[in-house]
Order: sequence, then C-alpha cells, then structure tokens
Amino acid sequence: MDSRQSSKRFFDAVLFREIWTAMKVTFKHMFHRPITFQYPREKRTIPDAHRGALGLLRYDNGVERCVGCDLCEAACPSRCIKVISEEDKSMPLQRKATEFYIDITKCVFCGYCVEACPVNALAMTKMYEFSTHDKRTLLFDKKRLYEIGELHIEDAKKYLYAHNQEKNDEESRAYRYHFPQPVGKETDS
Ligand code: SF4
Ligand code: SF4
Repeated sequence: MDSRQSSKRFFDAVLFREIWTAMKVTFKHMFHRPITFQYPREKRTIPDAHRGALGLLRYDNGVERCVGCDLCEAACPSRCIKVISEEDKSMPLQRKATEFYIDITKCVFCGYCVEACPVNALAMTKMYEFSTHDKRTLLFDKKRLYEIGELHIEDAKKYLYAHNQEKNDEESRAYRYHFPQPVGKETDS
C-alpha cells in the first residue's frame, strides 16, 4: 500500500466518509414516494383479467349455469377438477352437476377450464386471500364454489368480459352461442 492510499484511508476513517455516503442514500429516499404497500391495510388494485380463485356462476334468475358436461375437467392440465353429473329429471336431455370439486392446491391458475366451459359457468375472481393451516379446506366443493361465485359475481363477470368469454348481448351472439340455443346454425368466425 503506497502512502497516497494510506492517507486516503486515514482521512476516510477520520471524516466517517462511508457513513456520510450511506446517509446520502437514506436522505435521497426520504423524499421519494414510497412504492411499498402496507399490506393488509393497503391493497393493490387488481386488474379485471386477474386469475384468482375459481367460482361457479348462476344465471340472473338463480339457475345454475353448469350443465355437468365435464369439459373443464378434460381441459385442466393439473387434473384438479372433478365433476359428477346426472340427467336433470325436471328437464329431459339436460344434465346438471351433482358434485363439483376443484383442488385449488393443485391449480396453476391457467384459466383453461374457464375457456373450455361452453356456458360460462366457471370464472376466475379477484379473490387471492385463502391461505389456511388446514389444507383440506382448499378442496373447494360445489357449495363453496357457488359461494365464491356469488360473493365475487361482479369480478367474475369482468373476468369473463376481459378474456372475451362473455360480451354484452350483441357481441356475445357473434362470439359464443347461448345455451341451449341450437348449435347446428353456422357461427360467425
Ligand atoms: S385454472 Fe387451470 S389448473 Fe386451475 S382448475 Fe382451471 S384448468 Fe385446472
Ligand atoms: S363448469 Fe362448464 S365445462 Fe365444467 S362441467 Fe360445468 S358446464 Fe361443463
């Protein structure tokens, strides 16, 4: 170490230069707008296309949309959906889901099940706070899925709209057929 370096070290130590350098950074950030959120008191605005917990939806008249077709189960890459269906005795040829399970611990939130559903019975919501100490509560059954759907109905509708799944009546007719509208008719590409 030459004499120049040693004198620099000496003055750095005497003048507490490292402390001043660190304080400069601290003072600089005191006048910046903070970018951290004080969660859970403060929460981010979640975009409409956000893929949160799945929910099952009803039509406006309260009828369950799900017709138990199993397409969501077939589309799921994580194999975390189980649908058990039977024919609806009050409406011959129409089926309904008697049981519906989603193991949310296995879900990768890809949204394929929502896309596969021909009647938009499934939607994703902005619900993301479902951590628990009991993993068994993360096997969402039909009752829980309808509860989530009802509680987050507006967000679920926004999700379907943001993902081009459900448009308003005019747009929707061009994009997707309404069940049980006959599907033999040519659809616009
Ligand atoms: S979001 Fe994806 S992984 Fe989750 S249930 Fe639907 S298809 Fe399966
Ligand atoms: S949620 Fe949709 S795709 Fe899944 S069983 Fe019901 S109607 Fe079929």
